[in-house]
Amino acid sequence: MEADRLARIGAYLFADLDRKQEALQARGIDVINLGIGDPDLPTPEHIIEALARAARDPRTHRYPSYGGERDFREAVAAWYQQRFTVRLDPQTEVLALIGSKEGLAHLPWALLNPGEGTLVPDPGYPVYRAATILADGEPVPVPLLAQRGFLPDLGAVPPETLQRARILFLNYPNNPTAATASLGFFQEAVEFARRWGLVIAHDNSYSEIAYDGYRPPSFLQADGARDVGVEFHSLSKTFCMTGWRIGVAVGRADVIAALGRLKTNLDSGIFRAVQAAGTAALTGPQEPLRERVEIYRRRRDRVVETLARLGWRPPRPQATFYIWLEAPGGRRGVDFAGDVLERTGVVITPGRGYGAQGERYVRLSLTTPDDRLDEALDRISRVFGGE
Ligand code: PLP
Repeated sequence: MEADRLARIGAYLFADLDRKQEALQARGIDVINLGIGDPDLPTPEHIIEALARAARDPRTHRYPSYGGERDFREAVAAWYQQRFTVRLDPQTEVLALIGSKEGLAHLPWALLNPGEGTLVPDPGYPVYRAATILADGEPVPVPLLAQRGFLPDLGAVPPETLQRARILFLNYPNNPTAATASLGFFQEAVEFARRWGLVIAHDNSYSEIAYDGYRPPSFLQADGARDVGVEFHSLSKTFCMTGWRIGVAVGRADVIAALGRLKTNLDSGIFRAVQAAGTAALTGPQEPLRERVEIYRRRRDRVVETLARLGWRPPRPQATFYIWLEAPGGRRGVDFAGDVLERTGVVITPGRGYGAQGERYVRLSLTTPDDRLDEALDRISRVFGGE
């Protein structure tokens, strides 16, 4: 009974994983989920306080403004200025979102005519592709290969494809590969987008989850970037606020306006108390974030060292809370993940869920409490250590 376009996108990757996990749990198995990227660490206290205070003010109980409260948009602009030295006009270049997923998913609706294309990273966050299909567009996968540091080879995209394409999705630091991009890469992408009349949609959800002194850039730091594209940022990963649903799109004003116009027809903004909390997050102390990133760093090192001892050759990512690993022995990721799940009760994500190029990979996430992560690593070491 469902529409054809729904059949074309298939089930959301994590819905399938959830079902498998539930089936094992029903058999009494203590499953540890290293599959999904969702911070286990609590939202910092001052942000929760800001929400509680604002929620008691009846003025927050009414419909919010569509594009975001002025205070929130100004806080976003001030944060971009301080973090990236990028100047934004809070009126025309900042749009509040119900999480960055919401904005990314709606962007193709706002920009594509039927049959027009988007260039989507493969492997990549599945929403870019699904959203394109839902908007009756054509997603064209652009391979991210290990030998190119998981950066797309834009020059290899055929001209006929480029002539029909409208949006180029990019995402660095990257989910799922954990790859990072330099400002030089963004500069090349801007020139490329100009040449082909593409809108760049850069997903910068992981800019604050970085290690060893590395500070990921904003795409908007590239010269001319605000003329060709927008950047999506999220409070989800940065401030451990995945459940709160607040994110932002910033940059090119006509794209922001188009997305905003679409959204006025679909939703009615974000609870004002959540926006007040978002403002507190962006303008308040940043020390709690550094503490949280330090926890991920320690976990990253533990995972990398344990897996390396098994001979699995994990990279040591500079950013994100993911380890993107080639399945040992040249196996398919889905077979390997199934084997790990059956023999250890540990869920890891088969890379195929992120695109065809993920076929031989799996993804592990570092967002599981330390004791559970240690338990998962112990089980994996015990079972696979002797092979
Ligand atoms: N973009 C990427 C690359 C992600 O991995 C995620 C979440 O996992 C999101 C966007 C969505 O984040 P949110 O909607 O919570 O802001």
